[in-house]
Amino acid sequence: MVKEVMRKAPKRPEIVEELKKLIGSRKVSNNLTDLISYSHDYWPITFTWLLNGSLPALPDVVVFPEDARDVIQVVKFAYNNDVPLYVYGGGSGVLGGAVPEYGGIVMDIKKFREIKINDIDMYVEVGAGANGMILEEFLNRHGFTLGHFPQSLYTSTVGGWINTKAIGQFSVKYGGIEDMLLGLEVVIPPGELLEIKPNPRAAVGLDLKQLFIESEGLFGVLTKAYLKIWPYPEKRILLSYVSDNLEDALKSVREIMLSGAKPAVIRVYDKIETLKWFHMIKKAKGKVGTIIILEGDEDLIEAEKIIVNKAFKNALSTGEEPAKYWLENRFNVKEISDYLPLGIIIDTIEISVGWSKAIELYNDVINAIRSVDGTLIAFAHASHFYPQGVCFYFIFGGLPSNKSSVLDYYNDVWESVMSTVIKHGGAISHHHGIGRMRANWVEKNMGKVAYHLFKKLKQCIDDKGILNRGNMGV
Ligand SMILES: Cc1cc2nc3c(=O)[nH]c(=O)nc-3n(C[C@H](O)[C@H](O)[C@H](O)COP(=O)(O)OP(=O)(O)OC[C@H]3O[C@@H](n4cnc5c(N)ncnc54)[C@H](O)[C@@H]3O)c2cc1C
Repeated sequence: MVKEVMRKAPKRPEIVEELKKLIGSRKVSNNLTDLISYSHDYWPITFTWLLNGSLPALPDVVVFPEDARDVIQVVKFAYNNDVPLYVYGGGSGVLGGAVPEYGGIVMDIKKFREIKINDIDMYVEVGAGANGMILEEFLNRHGFTLGHFPQSLYTSTVGGWINTKAIGQFSVKYGGIEDMLLGLEVVIPPGELLEIKPNPRAAVGLDLKQLFIESEGLFGVLTKAYLKIWPYPEKRILLSYVSDNLEDALKSVREIMLSGAKPAVIRVYDKIETLKWFHMIKKAKGKVGTIIILEGDEDLIEAEKIIVNKAFKNALSTGEEPAKYWLENRFNVKEISDYLPLGIIIDTIEISVGWSKAIELYNDVINAIRSVDGTLIAFAHASHFYPQGVCFYFIFGGLPSNKSSVLDYYNDVWESVMSTVIKHGGAISHHHGIGRMRANWVEKNMGKVAYHLFKKLKQCIDDKGILNRGNMGV
């Protein structure tokens, strides 16, 4: 549930000079433009505040460390002086996870962008602030791919991916970021560098990497990661199908997932979203379109093509065109910035659920969104699949009625969707994480005991609560 995230702690102007002395004035800024830029991420609600002229929480200072020593110094300083510290990657998080609601220090991590390939052990050693697209292009030039293509590839960082448990469009083959992570370096309070080396597998006590996946800056400042890489795919095959309904399309995809085939991309659009991505296929109107992309070794993907065609034998095969169109347009996302100034709020909610409840949950969520007064659009696609189930990505948009505000409308939709997902036993987030937006529903979804343990871990690692204070409700 959203409340205006105005700064919740008094200003600390004295820390600016102290930090300049510590790491050098060139790496420290309290310029108002910087403070405003780092006061929000891509959470649509922070844009509504900026449009209204009411600022989200301003930090006291932004720091730009250049090496692990700088990070350690700043973490020590924050710890010793009880100053909140917020880490900022690309700022593309969509739930307010990087909003510095208690002020203090924002640490921009983008100067950590060194990239080194180990082409024998097949991993890349990369700074946590490296930009996704720059990393992928670097790998491509050397004949490799990471296989991680979130739609925010151009604006997100490695550290952000790990801290939100991000997933890319080619996830069926390459997995989510958790499947790629081999090792890491992270600075934890009160200012120590924790290193986990990139071995293919280790059974040496608890796998501490897991602590930092989807920890949203609560447990440490990630400075480096070791991620698996793959040879650049030899060949791609583009396919598409039109099924009579969502149930049939999902049945076909489940068959593929159980076969052991691993298409890189599978995207199933509901009847409304099919109108957009299959607009060039007349027979797709009123039906459910699926795009499939196979990539990798030629012999392997020819065999996968046979499996995919078999699974979609009752659907209409519609060729390469929809997949080509999707490949060309998949990074085009300007709806939010286009419509918000007009008072229309558009947002997305991703959740996951087992196959047995998939259709029921899809229907209930769409109905829940439509039942909120002011809703103009509600549709969905499924684009991440597992042998056990599916991630649905819902898109909604609306104009608040005369009686309510954008915030009321937005809160009502989120409440209706979150409670529907919890009722069905699904996960309230599949890859965007929690941030400030979903904080109220975490305990319900995780369970009381798990949430209590999570808070105890936070207390144990960061006993003064300096890191990302207020995020996820802790
Ligand atoms: C248009 C658009 C499309 C998107 N598509 C996808 C998608 O396809 N898949 C997907 O998974 N997500 C997607 N997202 C969401 C977002 O891009 C991801 O959550 C991404 O992983 C955030 O990375 P970032 O570098 O921008 O992190 P930020 O927004 O800067 O930070 C996110 C969180 O991580 C913490 N953090 C960041 N870096 C560090 C670090 N080095 N150490 C400790 N904590 C850190 C921050 O404090 C914050 O809590 C999309 C967002 C947008 C705006």
